[in-house]
Amino acid sequence: MSGQFDCVIVGSGTSGGVIAYYLTAGGMRCLLLEAGDAYGADTFPENDMDGSARMFWGGGLELSTTAEMAFLRARCLGGTSVVNQCLLDRFDEHAWDGWQAASGIGFLNGEEMAPHYAEVEGRLSIREVPPTHHNRNALLFVEGCERRGYQWAPLRRGETDCAIEEGNDCIACLNGCRRDSKQSTLVTFIRWAQALGLQVMPGFQVERLESTPDGVRLSGTHQGQMQEIRAPRVVLAAGALGNARLLLRSGFKKRLLSLGEGFYCHPQLMTFAEFDEPVDAHRGAFQACKSDDPRFRQAGFKLENVFAPPTSLAMLYPGFGPRLQAFMLRYRHLACIEVAVHDTVPGRITADARGKLHMAKRLEGEDARRGQAGLVAVREILESAGARTILQCPMSFGLHLMGGLAIGRDERTSVVNGRFNLHGFPNIYAADSSVFPAAPGINPALTIMALSHRASQEVLRDV
Ligand SMILES: Cc1cc2nc3c(=O)[nH]c(=O)nc-3n(C[C@H](O)[C@H](O)[C@H](O)COP(=O)(O)OP(=O)(O)OC[C@H]3O[C@@H](n4cnc5c(N)ncnc54)[C@H](O)[C@@H]3O)c2cc1C
Repeated sequence: MSGQFDCVIVGSGTSGGVIAYYLTAGGMRCLLLEAGDAYGADTFPENDMDGSARMFWGGGLELSTTAEMAFLRARCLGGTSVVNQCLLDRFDEHAWDGWQAASGIGFLNGEEMAPHYAEVEGRLSIREVPPTHHNRNALLFVEGCERRGYQWAPLRRGETDCAIEEGNDCIACLNGCRRDSKQSTLVTFIRWAQALGLQVMPGFQVERLESTPDGVRLSGTHQGQMQEIRAPRVVLAAGALGNARLLLRSGFKKRLLSLGEGFYCHPQLMTFAEFDEPVDAHRGAFQACKSDDPRFRQAGFKLENVFAPPTSLAMLYPGFGPRLQAFMLRYRHLACIEVAVHDTVPGRITADARGKLHMAKRLEGEDARRGQAGLVAVREILESAGARTILQCPMSFGLHLMGGLAIGRDERTSVVNGRFNLHGFPNIYAADSSVFPAAPGINPALTIMALSHRASQEVLRDV
């Protein structure tokens, strides 16, 4: 396939969907390639295991090299925006300062990024989860925070109408929202771009990328068949692991020495607590509140009220047999709070000759201290709220996968420049989670969208 498209976008998630829209709206003929399949409100898997197997890379969990940390990322049209919680936060000054120091890129500050945030926010339905939607898990979080004098705030979420009042449970939307309420790129930017002429090809996994004198050559498998596509330019939006894997396999490490370095993931630690009365944490808005305490931000962690479906919960419990059975029988009595660590110790992404990814990442040093400080606060909050017993999950999780193609001025320490081009490759762009030069300690999705809007302006300027 060649000559038909002005731009090919690899990956259809939070970044790919947004870029596809703005480029198509700007008059470009675009092709959006996605390794996973296309699902929708009527076809999202209804079973936990089935959903993990079909909609996530690695069947649900991919492990770090030491198997101490598990990573989650979606493999479907709309990418991780389909399975995430759609909590949409702007960075604060602390996050921008960290990015400035790490990248040296001038526009990475609150003032210059404000128009890009405003542009994408203006197209989405975003609101704070109202107090009427706080389930008992959220109320216990609030009660515990207030008793300890910790500041909290409602979560800010991309949703239209979750119909909580009608008894709808949002925990099910971890496998995709059946009401098209969650503002994933699947039901927003990609849908709008398709109406303007965007071509979408699900089930196409790009395996190699080559820079040619007249553009780029991509090859990969589509429904089991090898295919080649040529285009004048490509936007890489396959996420931190997807972009790193593709470029490493394609031999770019020789030119881009930092490729795969600087991998962050906001490691998450889950604590469960048993209460005498039923909590029913799975009911209604399954996440509603977060910590908003400057002391926690300073100490390098944040807290969110959260829960897990039964199969995931059973996998998290450190025990078998009658102990596990007793724990699961208390499902309705469990509350949960997660610590998300603002990680500072970078990991590394590599790929072997067959393309298998290896993520070297540990919760160690300063990051381990930050995690422990968060766990102390969680215990205080749960005890203050009246927890009978408290249980710490032994694994940590990476849901916010970031870095590997860090943005920066210095070619020796970064991969992407301030115009979102790979250093030395003016036809190859990236603006997704892979370009994060450091962990922000804040939910990344809204900033990925804002960066993607800015990047699409750069691409349009180049045409
Ligand atoms: C359960 C969960 C909850 C989360 N909740 C939140 C939240 O509430 N708020 C928030 O800010 N963040 C949240 N996140 C994180 C957030 O969703 C991600 O940081 C964000 O979606 C990353 O965007 P991206 O465009 O970089 O990658 P993705 O959205 O992951 O998209 C990458 C896409 O590229 C595709 N791809 C990969 N390799 C290839 C290839 N070789 N060929 C073709 N296609 C390929 C993938 O299948 C995928 O669809 C959550 C994550 C998870 C897992």
